[in-house]
Amino acid sequence: MVIEIQLTDLPIAMNASASPQRGSHGALVEFQGVVRGEENGRPISALDYEAYPEMAVREMRRLLEAMATRHPCLGARVIHRTGIVPVGETAIYVGITARHRAEGFALLAEFMDRFKQEVPIWKRRALPARAMEAGGQPGAPAPTGRQGANQGARSLDEAMREIGSHCQPLPAVRLPLAQAFGRVLRETVGAATDLPPFDCSTRDGYAILADDEATEFQVVDTLPAAGWRPRQLQSGEAVRVATGAPLPCGGLRVVMQEDAERKDNHLRITRREAASNIRLRGEEVKAGQPLVRANTVVTAGAAALLATAGCAHPLVSPRLRISHFTMGDEVVSPDQSPAPGQIRDSNSTLVRGLLRRFPCDLEQEHLPEDFAGAWARLDLDRLAAADVVLVSGGASVGDKDFTRPLLERLGFDIVFSQVNIRPGRPLIFGVSGARVAFGLPGNPLAHYVCFHFAVATALARLTGDKVPEFLRGRLAERLDDPPCPRETLWPARLEFSGGVLRLQPLAWASSGDVTCFGRANALVRKPANGGPLEAGMEVDFLPATGMLCG
Ligand code: AMP
Ligand code: MG
Repeated sequence: MVIEIQLTDLPIAMNASASPQRGSHGALVEFQGVVRGEENGRPISALDYEAYPEMAVREMRRLLEAMATRHPCLGARVIHRTGIVPVGETAIYVGITARHRAEGFALLAEFMDRFKQEVPIWKRRALPARAMEAGGQPGAPAPTGRQGANQGARSLDEAMREIGSHCQPLPAVRLPLAQAFGRVLRETVGAATDLPPFDCSTRDGYAILADDEATEFQVVDTLPAAGWRPRQLQSGEAVRVATGAPLPCGGLRVVMQEDAERKDNHLRITRREAASNIRLRGEEVKAGQPLVRANTVVTAGAAALLATAGCAHPLVSPRLRISHFTMGDEVVSPDQSPAPGQIRDSNSTLVRGLLRRFPCDLEQEHLPEDFAGAWARLDLDRLAAADVVLVSGGASVGDKDFTRPLLERLGFDIVFSQVNIRPGRPLIFGVSGARVAFGLPGNPLAHYVCFHFAVATALARLTGDKVPEFLRGRLAERLDDPPCPRETLWPARLEFSGGVLRLQPLAWASSGDVTCFGRANALVRKPANGGPLEAGMEVDFLPATGMLCG
């Protein structure tokens, strides 16, 4: 079958029906899809179509060829408009030539049925009825969104800044303290009372007047930690107190049990310390002072402090909903034996592990490596609810790299698709309202790097956490690397070397390397075009996700 496919941003010419197989066919079956004047019940003036051209043409050809085995026809011509198509104009033309009408009708009907589902051409937006009257020109470039975005490669700093500025903290939730670990506190919690809330003993012992010089005492009361009985002590009187017990009055000191001998209610002090062994009310924090500040991760210690402050239901970041897809027909699960040419999937485990720092509901799925197959597999409702969509692999420009059109078809506006770093140049970042998506290069080391500077920045912003920042540290060893036109994020291990924390650069040769994962906990920033970095030199580094909290 002769197949002709064309995408055009000009009106479809009326002679489009000229048959590719003139003479031998007995039937020409034509269809034109025309833009209607309403969309979802609202009057519109035009539809704006967007396509991923090479892939759309490839998918249409694949569909037609597959169908022609069931409905043998002679020729097929498809022309689809892109850009703005005014109401009443043809958005798609399909002409099928066949020996007889039956197979022509069948092919046309099946093609149109599957076209919508499987070809990456979609209605980007509907222009309301006023828009065209206000001067929108058919075929004119859309003023916003993908076409309007600056599509150039970003520097590392630009990428981190842009990701940060596109992501806003998601609405916070109030949760029982036990469920708050690892979340980001979204309110500053202050001390409701002084801490400690009362003067109390730090020892098991005996409370006496601070200036009482006597050595013999009468034990007049016993106070456990839980009991408080006010009482003004006199010289020569002692009160038995437990550690943490509130003291019966002011102006006291506590003599340790080990420094006294007791017989019945008679007490003799054998040694006097200078220390009072008392924690004074409010000596740690006064009522109203901040205890745990907003935008800090609820670590074990922070949670314990919240518990102390009586904050049993802190306001914290919501659990993130993250959908992660892997791609690549060569990738098999870790429990499978790879056939020649196959490799085991390490990215799913890597992503799951890196996400442990961020409380989230994570869905992971492997997608087939063709656009239509992948699209058919997606649970669109579930995806619509995802705060973050991650796609591993297929982010570059290879024949099977369709992460970008997939994300676009899902409604994400692509902000950038390349970052000038090594490893990890083909990194896609897209946004759709409050939702974000990343297309991560499949190479495992590139994956690791992109997660740390890009995904972690987005997750930090969405949860209200501090965004990842470069710290300063010294190299334990020379980082021997010739100049590279791109900045490098070099895997390293922050560890003790000669008794001080130093960054040990790890060996790697390609972004496909995996061996340095076992030890990496930092990424050293090596400037573009710079030569080797010497041992002892101060460098910028990004600590591994979660390293500095919890
Ligand atoms: P891609 O980004 O799809 O061009 O893939 C780049 C390289 O990463 C290829 O060698 C893939 O085999 C490899 N790769 C892709 N996905 C994974 C994965 N889930 N685990 C390990 N390697 C992968
Ligand atoms: Mg691939």
